[in-house]
Amino acid sequence: MSTSSPRKDQPTVLLCIGMAGSGKTTFMQRLNAHLHSKKRPPYVINLDPAVLKLPFTPNIDIRDTVNYKEVMKQYNLGPNGGILTSLNLFTTKFDQVLDFVNKRAPTLDHIIVDTPGQIEIFTWSASGAIITDALAATYPSVVAYIIDTPRTTSPATFMSNMLYACSILYKTKLPFILVFNKIDVVSHEFAIQWMTDFEAFQLALQKDTSYMSNLMNSMCMVLEEFYNNLKVVGVSAVTGEGIDEFFGAVDEAVKEYEEIY
Ligand code: GDP
Ligand code: MG
Repeated sequence: MSTSSPRKDQPTVLLCIGMAGSGKTTFMQRLNAHLHSKKRPPYVINLDPAVLKLPFTPNIDIRDTVNYKEVMKQYNLGPNGGILTSLNLFTTKFDQVLDFVNKRAPTLDHIIVDTPGQIEIFTWSASGAIITDALAATYPSVVAYIIDTPRTTSPATFMSNMLYACSILYKTKLPFILVFNKIDVVSHEFAIQWMTDFEAFQLALQKDTSYMSNLMNSMCMVLEEFYNNLKVVGVSAVTGEGIDEFFGAVDEAVKEYEEIY
């Protein structure tokens, strides 16, 4: 973390992080459209070198700097290695990206950032940490952790997704919003219930898994503490439902951020 504190009148960074297919890019499109029509246009950064087509026009696109297929060939890598190496190469130039962002900052309220499809490429790499820290050192920054709600309805999957989110919270130490996406398909009510009613979740777990129950119970308790530290919203990136609520959570998160820094 940097020694200088971000200024309070700076734009807010929204980092979209989540499992592959959770809907990060679609959520970015929704944020972009919402901010264009209701607030000030955001500054948009794409950090996914492997995305084929983006449903929004980024101000900064990693694909303009590195060609991940060429990187794969040149360094003899598979797809994941190619994406990671592309992100590393891009990160060596991130000071230039920051210069661009800093120049535009006085006219901005939001900087929105899309991350690579595979979550660990961003969350468990030095590059991801460098980019996150560099942005958070200058701008109030919030993690929007996108969850594929329809694919998280089993208690064991839910718990592993929450543990993953928990690890990112502790790694980034940034204000955190759990964004239950795709509520046009499945409502996130079950998740709210599990997060607020410890016993309801334990009961669901017992029905779901007969093994490892002690370990599961202990993890439930860890998660209870985790839930106290975050905000939860349900959205549909496709229909736009819940987006106002999301921005409400962002405002609260920024306040928290200002108290910490
Ligand atoms: P990413 O890998 O996290 O960037 O995920 P994408 O944004 O590419 O979305 C993955 C898939 O989920 C695509 O087929 C999207 O159309 C779909 N998707 C994303 N958000 C929603 C949503 O809110 N509702 C529904 N029904 N589908 C969604
Ligand atoms: Mg994507």
